Amino acid sequence: MPATRPATTIAPVAVVGGGLAGITAALALAEAGCPVTLYEARPRLGGAAHSFQRGGLTVDNGQHVFLRCCTAYRGLLDRLGGTALVSLQNRFDVRVLGGAGRSGRLRRASLPGPLHFVPALAGYRLLGPGDRIQALRGSLALSRLDPADPVLDTMTFGSWLAAHGQGAPVRQALWDLLAVAALNTGVEEVALGPAVKVFKTALLGRPDAADLGIPLVPLGRLHDTAAQEAIARRGGVVRLSAKVTAIEPDAVIVDGVRTKASAVVVATRHEQAATLVPAGAAPGRDAWSALDASPIINVHALYDRPVMRMPFVAVTGSPVQWVFDKTRVAGLGKGQYLAVSVSVADTWIDRPTADIRAAFVPELRSVFPAAREARLTDFFVTRERRATFRQAPGSGALRPHGATRWPGLYLAGAWTDTGWPDTMEGAVRSGLHAARLVRHHVRHQESAS
Ligand SMILES: Cc1cc2nc3c(=O)[nH]c(=O)nc-3n(C[C@H](O)[C@H](O)[C@H](O)COP(=O)(O)OP(=O)(O)OC[C@H]3O[C@@H](n4cnc5c(N)ncnc54)[C@H](O)[C@@H]3O)c2cc1C
Repeated sequence: MPATRPATTIAPVAVVGGGLAGITAALALAEAGCPVTLYEARPRLGGAAHSFQRGGLTVDNGQHVFLRCCTAYRGLLDRLGGTALVSLQNRFDVRVLGGAGRSGRLRRASLPGPLHFVPALAGYRLLGPGDRIQALRGSLALSRLDPADPVLDTMTFGSWLAAHGQGAPVRQALWDLLAVAALNTGVEEVALGPAVKVFKTALLGRPDAADLGIPLVPLGRLHDTAAQEAIARRGGVVRLSAKVTAIEPDAVIVDGVRTKASAVVVATRHEQAATLVPAGAAPGRDAWSALDASPIINVHALYDRPVMRMPFVAVTGSPVQWVFDKTRVAGLGKGQYLAVSVSVADTWIDRPTADIRAAFVPELRSVFPAAREARLTDFFVTRERRATFRQAPGSGALRPHGATRWPGLYLAGAWTDTGWPDTMEGAVRSGLHAARLVRHHVRHQESAS
């Protein structure tokens, strides 16, 4: 008679925080047959990438995009049934509006990387011929750097660009345009390491790496309800509005109640992790606050008629950075709904909506001439003060690994040492890594008992 496996008696693993890192960790553990409970303080999953209802519309807290090279995030989407709910370009192609009616297009060629980027730059009309050569030289020099080299964590991308002859036009129309959106830290402030990671992986690596992915449904549908169902289907438990206030060696305290846990994954942002993780478990904990935070705002402008013909555009030389057509995603029946995503929004984050409206509505009229004739039917702003950590020099050294000094206590989150910037891809990678560490720990515990 085949030996039957004894029913597992270990306490569920506690995953603290239901952003993409926590969702990924909980799902991976549930899929591996490991009992798991995901605790999320808010009444929904999704963390920094979520949606809410506003007057009949479903509004994303902030536009999120991903790239084809975000393989871990795409893997999560697949497991959540979300692959058909996003559009992924079959060739990186971005329209860039440069003011005064000038426009350019960054479109990759079907050549092996990094040559695919050469025709894109060569045909980029927002740069003059000399600037394009400068940009190509810069790209070549950048492709020789190793993002994991600790030296790159000691200097800014801006200082490197200056040292490599990248003048103001190239910086504005190329490096700023892409780096600010990808890193949410200004070029003068961002560390060289993450900038190299982004450009090497996305634009100078595999030819299809930078093809852009955009959700076709609200983020809440991609990340919240789908994740709750997927985790529950595999036997995991999701507890919403459940705040973890303390962690003990074999338990978590949830809203004042002690609950046993065979292992704990702290998948919150660094600010909350610094209060939850005991000092002895992570000696670097008190320095995590130096990772700081960088804001993003989204400016939502609704018109009575279509004013932008493309699904999205990038804009240079204007406070308007990237504009997305959210009409269908949000469920607007008539007119057009534009979301302007503004990264590194330090100058806007504390300004009243009236000031932001006074600045952005005329800018949108200048970028989209059709907006001059259209009636603005609604205008509002979503603000994410602590959207990502600030990826400044020294931040790389502060990002902790998934394991702590306490056996059974692990860290996840886009701010941990993932090798990626603070992105959905980084969050998912950290969750997968934490789940691997937990499984190893649980196996060890089981074999010892
Ligand atoms: C406006 C905006 C735009 C962005 N755009 C992009 C983009 O285009 N592409 C991209 O890749 N990335 C983008 N990002 C970054 C991306 O959203 C994050 O990197 C990623 O979602 C972080 O996931 P996370 O799981 O690490 O953390 P979080 O999403 O912050 O999740 C942490 C969770 O922990 C919960 N929590 C905290 N404390 C407790 C507690 N004590 N008990 C229980 N739960 C707790 C929180 O409520 C939260 O849900 C953007 C972010 C913002 C805000």
